[in-house]
Amino acid sequence: MTSDQSWKEKYLQELESADQREEQWKAERNTLERMLVRTCLASEGQAPELDRLLARVRKDLRKNKVDVENWRELQEQIDRQVTLLDEKPVAKKSLFNWKKLPEQEADSPPAETPPDTVKPTDSGSLDDNTQRLRIARRVGQLLGQLLSQVSLEANAEAQARVLQQSLLSSDSWDELREGLNHVADLVIAAIARSQREFEAFLQRLDERLEVFQQHFANQSSAQAERIRATELLDQEIRHGLECAGVDVQESHDLGELKSSVSDHLESIAVALDRFRAQETQREQELADQLAAMQEKMAAMEAHSEQMQEQIRRERQKATTDLLTQLPNREAWQERLSFEYNRWKRYQHPLTVGVLDIDLFKRINDSYGHKAGDRVLQLVARELKERLRNTDFIARYGGEEFVLLFPETSPVDAIAVLDQLRAHVANLPFHFSGEPVTVTFSAGVSGFSPGDTGETVFDRADRALYQAKDAGRNQVHLEPDSPAQ
Ligand code: GH3
Ligand code: MG
Ligand code: MG
Repeated sequence: MTSDQSWKEKYLQELESADQREEQWKAERNTLERMLVRTCLASEGQAPELDRLLARVRKDLRKNKVDVENWRELQEQIDRQVTLLDEKPVAKKSLFNWKKLPEQEADSPPAETPPDTVKPTDSGSLDDNTQRLRIARRVGQLLGQLLSQVSLEANAEAQARVLQQSLLSSDSWDELREGLNHVADLVIAAIARSQREFEAFLQRLDERLEVFQQHFANQSSAQAERIRATELLDQEIRHGLECAGVDVQESHDLGELKSSVSDHLESIAVALDRFRAQETQREQELADQLAAMQEKMAAMEAHSEQMQEQIRRERQKATTDLLTQLPNREAWQERLSFEYNRWKRYQHPLTVGVLDIDLFKRINDSYGHKAGDRVLQLVARELKERLRNTDFIARYGGEEFVLLFPETSPVDAIAVLDQLRAHVANLPFHFSGEPVTVTFSAGVSGFSPGDTGETVFDRADRALYQAKDAGRNQVHLEPDSPAQ
């Protein structure tokens, strides 16, 4: 039946898009997990027991063994350790593996960037307090990143915002310690929420598919009934006709014959009427069921569109840098691996550029962070507008941008970047009434046999540092480039 086929197609399509959705949930979950790993790394090195617990968190994440119930227990143990730690006199050495938190990784707009100096509180020395507060600020920034990438339930989101503010601005260690504990709660809540939403969706899908299955079952039992009823009708008609035939042969009286034949014809007519009435009823029932099913199908389609839209929005959020609206580092990794695979397959030229604004700290220091942010936004816009559609630019972090030039040799990419450089250097920036020149330096490197995304990036990065050493506001080609 054709309608059977179209249900089947829809059913298969639905299964396929459920698979895709699952993929996307996985990607979001990955982001959350990576952030949690970073937070764990940042907190290590304070107490062996705490390290052991944090290592368990990371191990669970690595082995994909996150069980929300177990994790609650784990979190309580971590809380206890953190409390103990806080009661202990603080060690003289650096408290944290500070190196594992490079500044540049902060993608969130640093409107609330930590003040460089922090007042000591009554407990601990200035050094320890400064370290602790820097950690808290950094967690606050990471939390901002987290909030820009996932959607939490409304009240969790509000809590997270308050929490982020207090991490970024409070000087009281007690308050910050409380705050840090809540961060873990929020991450767990976000993971649990993704899981719950997806489970609920599958549950609904399952219920609806059950309705379809029921409909198909009804349809085939209606079909069987129709066959039985047709056979019965056939028998009744044959029987009536046979009896009429016998009467015709055996009857000698015409009047008797007439009445007997008309009786038989009457019983055939009754059987036909009954069959028709039953048939109409069966059809009506099937039509009703079909209408109900179509309604359910439409609801399911609407819901699935909603889900897709929500996933699209969240995905967009997760791959866009909030300040500049350029693709972020996550999006960069994705595009790099896509272009890398194409390069491996077709061997067309592919070039990477790394670009860093010169002496940007000075702009922040002289005109404030807001001015710095504005420079980042404007430079990003100018770069984006001037690149070809097939080129790709992302904010790598801080004042650093990365570019991918498909089908372009390093020499040609240098020409493009050099034009951009001259254009940016001529932009008429004004801050506090003063004209300000903004320049950038860049390094370029092309893919050669045996390369991976990382090796090419590293070479472009080295070329960038050569450009800085050579006096800034210039674009350099990778050292030992075959194109040189
Ligand atoms: P160089 O020419 O060697 O690159 O010098 P630089 O001053 O640009 O480099 P440095 O890495 O010392 O300083 C980069 C500064 O950029 C430090 C950091 O506070 C600032 N920064 C990073 N991200 C942002 C941001 O989103 N907004 C603002 N306003 N400043 C940022
Ligand atoms: Mg710089
Ligand atoms: Mg830099």
